[in-house]
Amino acid sequence: MTPSKIDFKEVTTEEAAGWLADAGEPPFRARQILAWIRHRGVDDFAAMTDLAKPLRQWLAEHATVTLLTVAHRSESVDGTVKFLFRLGDGHTVESVWIPEEDRATLCVSSQVGCKLDCGFCLTGAGGFVRNLTAGEIVDQVIQVKRTVPDGRITNLVFMGMGEPLDNYDAVVRALEAITDTASPLVGARKVTLSTCGLAPAIERLAVDFPKIKLAVSLNGTTDEQRAALMPVNRAFPLRRLLEALSKWPLPQGRRITFEYVLMAGVNDSDADAERLVRLTGQVPATINLIPFNECPGLPYHRPSRQQVERFRDIVYSHHRVVTIRESRGQDILAACGQLREQAEGA
Ligand code: SAH
Repeated sequence: MTPSKIDFKEVTTEEAAGWLADAGEPPFRARQILAWIRHRGVDDFAAMTDLAKPLRQWLAEHATVTLLTVAHRSESVDGTVKFLFRLGDGHTVESVWIPEEDRATLCVSSQVGCKLDCGFCLTGAGGFVRNLTAGEIVDQVIQVKRTVPDGRITNLVFMGMGEPLDNYDAVVRALEAITDTASPLVGARKVTLSTCGLAPAIERLAVDFPKIKLAVSLNGTTDEQRAALMPVNRAFPLRRLLEALSKWPLPQGRRITFEYVLMAGVNDSDADAERLVRLTGQVPATINLIPFNECPGLPYHRPSRQQVERFRDIVYSHHRVVTIRESRGQDILAACGQLREQAEGA
């Protein structure tokens, strides 16, 4: 029997072993092949020298390995590295690697463009092109791992281009491959998925893949205000969103992260801070304040540092866990869609 083609970038060790078994190969071949691909920087079956030559030839005919190419790479003075990856069909997506003292976080994309049309987001302004395949998501991790010092990626966040829960099946498949316990790229507990708040998909993910951390982009504290910034709020208003979040299975001591992009005169008032405290008090929460990254063409502004700190202090005075996300890689346009915009001359 000739098995159907698989993409070795998007399978788990177990799946690969099952596929190889159908071809009469022992299960440990899956580990060998995936070690080459995930950890030894080799995508070409012909170069997998611990496999017999006929098997290498057979794999080349019956399996694929998704491969992204680096269209652009820029490194910030602060060490942040931004990658623009070219996909097989010519489209591009970004990933950003952010090294810190105690960790190195990779931010990956899940779609080319986005359908959700949030008014403050440059990806949204560019419209939707297509979903990424699971292999294209996983390969962002693999390619970055190959080029950064010591392959250091301790944390992974789905906060790049696209809405991960709008590409549900591919994202879950990618999560399974990335966190594959037999040969992990990143451990499940070190992965954060950020969503604009697709409530039914959050409920599905709570069943299918509750091991990861969940982050929700809130950005508004009333339905009216949030819907003006994020049209998704019309389909799933705050009440519905919070209902979905209340079902998320949090292990002891863990929290859901609420991201809140601060825009001057839009959602940064003292009353907003008070409402934010009340809204997020319904579940164990961390509040992550993100001062708006200004981009040409978007009609919003970053509040003053003083205002950002004032907002933070109000939230903090209610004994809530609150942090301010510092912008990294500003000199290389590392924020939200900027590099792709520049490279494609959009
Ligand atoms: N679609 C997902 C993940 C991608 S956006 C989501 O909505 O969460 C990742 C984060 O970047 C979100 O919290 C979003 O609110 C924020 N963001 C988008 N544009 C921004 C900008 N111009 N400045 C600051 N943060 C922005």
